Amino acid sequence: MKLQPTQQAVLLELASTERALQVTGGKAFVTTEQKDLNRLLKEQQEMRNAAASAQMAVDDMESEILRIQEDERKLRRRERDDKTQLTAEVDPVRRRDIEHDLYSAKSRIADLMSELQEAHNEIHALRNNRDVHGARLDDLGRKIDLAKRAAESANEASSAKPDPQTLILELRAQLSTEALAAYDAQKNDSDIGAADFNGRACGGCFMVLGTLDQSAIRKAPADELPHCPECGTYLVRT
Ligand SMILES: [Zn+2]
Repeated sequence: MKLQPTQQAVLLELASTERALQVTGGKAFVTTEQKDLNRLLKEQQEMRNAAASAQMAVDDMESEILRIQEDERKLRRRERDDKTQLTAEVDPVRRRDIEHDLYSAKSRIADLMSELQEAHNEIHALRNNRDVHGARLDDLGRKIDLAKRAAESANEASSAKPDPQTLILELRAQLSTEALAAYDAQKNDSDIGAADFNGRACGGCFMVLGTLDQSAIRKAPADELPHCPECGTYLVRT
């Protein structure tokens, strides 16, 4: 179709804006910075949960250690009582009972000591794990502060841009009915309607054209809009 070069630029902007809107599905545009911030906030939420679990594991192991120490205190008392009783007891049957009790208290204490050793090793690892989570949370907090500032300024800059729907209406108003009809018909046909031609490839289908097609397009009159021989899209030479 015939179209003045200034109108060709308007048509190309219209086609790119409509294409961009198609890509976002007409949904509100979210800046990359806002997406980064959202990702970090999600990561922070997961890290908070993980840190809480790590703290809970430390708390559980600490109460386990207190329980072992309490059991140990009771058994040591029993051991002392048995020994005291043995110094006074003369009845052989009663002495045997007390000796038996003393033996089982001692062996239970030995078991508790190895449980306590194990618990101490474990709590060391658990506290390390909790501290690692704490450090990661601090690090995330710093990243989020930076990302928040970046998102705020990016969102502000983006909202200063005209709304794509409004821009489309404004651009359409600048084009003739005939040009719009031809563009819309082509858009129905190839989805794109109009795209830029960089001298080699079609900006609609991204095919690199044959040298004959390339030169035919380059040589077409300036007020003529050639079609892409591959996808039919109107080509605006840039
Ligand atoms: Zn094409």
